[in-house]
Amino acid sequence: MSKVIIVGAGPAGITAAIYLKRGGIEPILIEKMMPGGKVSLTHKIDNYPGFTSIGGSDLANQMMNQLMENNIDVVYDEVVDISKKEGSFLVKTSYGEYESDAVIIATGTLEKKLGIPGEKEFFAKGVSTCAVCDGGFFKGQPMAIIGGGNSALEEALYLSSITEKVYIVHRRNQFRADQILVDKIKVDSHIEILTPYIPLEVKGDNMVSSIILKNVETNEIKEVEIKAMFAYIGADANTSFISNKEVLDERGYIKVNSEMETSIPGLFACGDCIAKNLRQVITACGDGAVAAMSAVHYLNK
Ligand code: NAP
Repeated sequence: MSKVIIVGAGPAGITAAIYLKRGGIEPILIEKMMPGGKVSLTHKIDNYPGFTSIGGSDLANQMMNQLMENNIDVVYDEVVDISKKEGSFLVKTSYGEYESDAVIIATGTLEKKLGIPGEKEFFAKGVSTCAVCDGGFFKGQPMAIIGGGNSALEEALYLSSITEKVYIVHRRNQFRADQILVDKIKVDSHIEILTPYIPLEVKGDNMVSSIILKNVETNEIKEVEIKAMFAYIGADANTSFISNKEVLDERGYIKVNSEMETSIPGLFACGDCIAKNLRQVITACGDGAVAAMSAVHYLNK
């Protein structure tokens, strides 16, 4: 039987696995962390059809249940290299090697860091990249979200449900996030919007106690007392393990055509790691379905 390896078990990889299995192909789904990807770390998802509003971890659980219903196992390992030799692929992981007839890469993105003093030192001591995971430790205390995109505003709204003081620190006066989220944060009495500010430093003793901010228009510097800081300033493609750089664009995203094919026959990619404009759960699932069916056609040729 033909074998297809899927790298990454977020919405794109999970969808690809389900479609392959239904197409009569046994997928090997390799995931280094936990299935569900970024969805499982998201407070709420309000734009996935079929669910007016659903918790991110609930949606991720539903996806995992669907994997189990389809008898698809997840291999917990990290892919470190993919190479192709005489029509088949060799996928190296931290703990072993796998051979396959085709590979689908669905590794998503990795959160960017601010790179300011204190960010590293206070990581897990008030600095975190996941408000849903760690916000609860600072319930009732002042917290800051950095960024003006959908992730920043959504997670600020989550924090506002567990504390009465949430600062949104954004470097511009306009937000990049969807208007519906901008409208919500503007009327939320627990949220204070600080624009146009950039963070210069995270301060504290054992734990975070404040951040130093700079107004980029007036150069005013101020210190704001907080107990936790979450930066949502975008992400980079999680593709550094790909040694054949010809499949990547200049920003590291994987170049694919509308069928999710890369320039290497048998190598497909889908979800947030591909070069595209709209990164959503729904588009990741759509990409995953297309990649799986393209792999089926490739193997049937
Ligand atoms: P994003 O849309 O790229 O937004 C990043 C934000 O961080 C921007 O406001 C940016 O400011 C700011 N920023 C970037 N670098 C910075 C720095 N060094 N210092 C301070 N601020 C900085 O990232 P995201 O919110 O993580 O979203 C990623 C993708 O997922 C997007 O396509 C987004 O639409 C999608 N997403 C969708 C949903 C949803 O539909 N509900 C939810 C979450 C994510 P500027 O605006 O000035 O560039």
